[in-house]
Amino acid sequence: MPGREDGRSAYLVAILLSASCLFVVARSHQGFHDAVGSRNLLKSNEHTHQVHCSRERSRAAWKAIDEYLMPFMEKEKYEFPSKCRLCPDNDMFREQEQHKIHFDISEWRCGFCKKAFRAEKFLDQHFENRHNNLVDDGHGRCLADLCGALHCDLMLEFKKPKTKCSAAVAARNHHLCESLADSCFPINQGHSASRLHEFFLRQFCDAHTCRGGSKPFPKGGRKETNRFYLALCALLAVLLPLFYLIVFLHQRELKKGSQNVRRISKIGHKKKPT
Ligand SMILES: [Zn+2]
Repeated sequence: MPGREDGRSAYLVAILLSASCLFVVARSHQGFHDAVGSRNLLKSNEHTHQVHCSRERSRAAWKAIDEYLMPFMEKEKYEFPSKCRLCPDNDMFREQEQHKIHFDISEWRCGFCKKAFRAEKFLDQHFENRHNNLVDDGHGRCLADLCGALHCDLMLEFKKPKTKCSAAVAARNHHLCESLADSCFPINQGHSASRLHEFFLRQFCDAHTCRGGSKPFPKGGRKETNRFYLALCALLAVLLPLFYLIVFLHQRELKKGSQNVRRISKIGHKKKPT
């Protein structure tokens, strides 16, 4: 029965596509928090030493790097030199951030001791109280210090960027941005480094001006591709059931048609002898 075979394969395709969509959505949602649980449990430490670095702004800085720089570095198969301050090793909160397990909107878990929390801010507090021994605030390890260059205000969605532009601040940020480009992508270190150097200036540094005209991240980033996939999946989720319904209705019509033909031919046979 070719009709039934077609229907079955259409159904299989529908299931496969929906499953791949779910996989893409789950991956984009969970991100790097995935492989974290398997790491060794580290001993907690009660002593709290004062850390003069904003966790929230460090997170925003990392988000900017991860979304608007890493995809392009992956394409070039480039790795940061150790002296580069954008390097994940130079983020004092990275180890803790990687030990956040995010189940859903109201369930966060500590990857070290598996304790559960209702919101990310409580988990942050827990890290500060219990696992602060992991925070090594050595020289140059505060990613938040690079926020001026990395447009952190844009990443912190609830905070609007300042409306009034200060030429002195813009110049300082531009200078910091260029020094990051020089130390992270030295132009004498090969083609990839010099291409990324140029890219970094366009993507992060050009927008540090009061003249206007250039916006941050003109080359796009990871988020856009994710959004594109999500939109595509949403579209497929709507269209696939519709497609299957059409196939189903079409087959029902075919079956009805063939039954009618049989009935007519039977009537024809019966009528013949008379
Ligand atoms: Zn813990």
